[in-house]
Amino acid sequence: MSSKTVSICWGAQQISPTNKPDYQVNLHQNYAQTFAGVWVQEQTHGVQGGVIDQQADWPSWAKQVPQGDYLITKERNQWIGVLTADCLPMVFFDPVQEVIAVAHAGWRGTVDKISQIVVCRLQSEFNINPEDLQVYFGPSGQTCCYEVDQTFLERLQFDPVAAQCILQRSGRAFFDVSLYNVICLKASGVLECKIDRVVNVCTICNLNYGSYRRQRDQMDLQLSVVALR
Ligand SMILES: [Zn+2]
Repeated sequence: MSSKTVSICWGAQQISPTNKPDYQVNLHQNYAQTFAGVWVQEQTHGVQGGVIDQQADWPSWAKQVPQGDYLITKERNQWIGVLTADCLPMVFFDPVQEVIAVAHAGWRGTVDKISQIVVCRLQSEFNINPEDLQVYFGPSGQTCCYEVDQTFLERLQFDPVAAQCILQRSGRAFFDVSLYNVICLKASGVLECKIDRVVNVCTICNLNYGSYRRQRDQMDLQLSVVALR
């Protein structure tokens, strides 16, 4: 068993490096200052991702930021991160193969199974055993507030996992993004007892966090980061 650990820092509104109106500008013009050595992709709500290895070069990355929604690294002391506002930030740590990952899962990435895609890549490229994996969920929209409409429900009507994640309350429907990812992770072989949801609080009703639902186009984007130590 390795002696490596992880440092995780979940973003909050007070330390938000950027907000939605400034995001595109910061991403392409002020990237190095805004993200100060943290590898963050241009997120697209997709399921593509990348690996930060010894060949990765920060200045060229900062000049032309790759698109993607998850990052993996085995490099020590390299901060990798995701920006969120109601979407779910997830951190993965395998203490045996000494590899970490971070993923951004909004509802689109969630139902497109980004959590399983990350586990699969960790298995195929980094030889992890999913049972060894520790997964940490950060702050995200929760079922107290994350209401969804009829169009959303119709879109997911044939998704058997989604059916378990829709909560009906007083004639309204709420979507449980966290539960959806828990189900996917368990299906990939991750042990439920290794999914840590201690800080998986609601960003919509907790004013410490930037929230798309609460702030709309002016929303703050919190940066959650992890590094292997
Ligand atoms: Zn809430």
